[in-house]
Amino acid sequence: MAELLTTKETLVALDNIIKRAEKYICIFTFNIKIDENYLTRLRNASKRGVKITIVFGVDNGDPQVLDAVLNISNCTVYFKPQMHAKFFYNEKELLVGSMNLSEASAKNNFELSVLFSGEDYLSVISKVKEEAKEIISDSTDWKNLLPTIERRNKKELSFRPKFTNEAGTCIRCNKNIPLNPAKPFCSACYNEWAEWGNEYYLEKYCHQCGKGKESISFAKPECYTCYKN
Ligand SMILES: [Zn+2]
Ligand SMILES: [Zn+2]
Repeated sequence: MAELLTTKETLVALDNIIKRAEKYICIFTFNIKIDENYLTRLRNASKRGVKITIVFGVDNGDPQVLDAVLNISNCTVYFKPQMHAKFFYNEKELLVGSMNLSEASAKNNFELSVLFSGEDYLSVISKVKEEAKEIISDSTDWKNLLPTIERRNKKELSFRPKFTNEAGTCIRCNKNIPLNPAKPFCSACYNEWAEWGNEYYLEKYCHQCGKGKESISFAKPECYTCYKN
C-alpha cells in the first residue's frame, strides 16, 4: 500500500517506524534537531536489538543532542554535507516526504509524505537501499569528526564574551560576520569547510582586521597583530 499522509499522520508514521522496527531503522534527514521523546524511542529500539543508522546533512544541531544519539548503542551516525533527502524505513515500512527528524518540522511546518507498506514497500525498497548505500559511502562517520568539533566547542567556551557584538570577517570569503574567533566562517563557508573539517587548511582573511593574510586557518583565524591585541 502507498498512502499520502498529512503532517500529523506523518509524525505517527515515523513513530511507528521506530516503535515497530525489529531489525533495523534507517533515518535520512537534513536536520537532526530532536527532542527527548525521539531519543527515548530510539533508545528503546536499540534495547530491542534494532540497528539504527542516521544520516544527516547539516551541522547546525545541538552538540548535546548528537552526543546523546551517539551514546545509543547499535546507533551509527553519518554526516553527509548538503544531503537534503528525507526518508525513514525499517524492514516493513518506508516513509518518504518533506519532514526532517527535527522538532521544528514537527511543530511548525506543513509536511506531506508517502508511506509505503506491504507489496508497495517491497517494490521500491531495494532501490531505496541502493540509494542509501551510495549516500553512506560518501558520508563521514560522525565519530571521526568529533575531535574537531569538541575542540571547536571548547574554543567557544573559553572565548572572551566581550567580543560578541563586534564585527569580524569570514576568513574564507571576507564577508562581515560577528567577531568570534571560535566561529570565523559565515554559514555558507562553514558548511563548505565542515565537509573536511581541516582546522589547518589555509584561508585568506584575518577574522579580526579583514586583511588578506597568509597564515590564516580555522585554528588560527587572526593575524599576528590582531592576535596580540
Ligand atoms: Zn564566508
Ligand atoms: Zn588581523
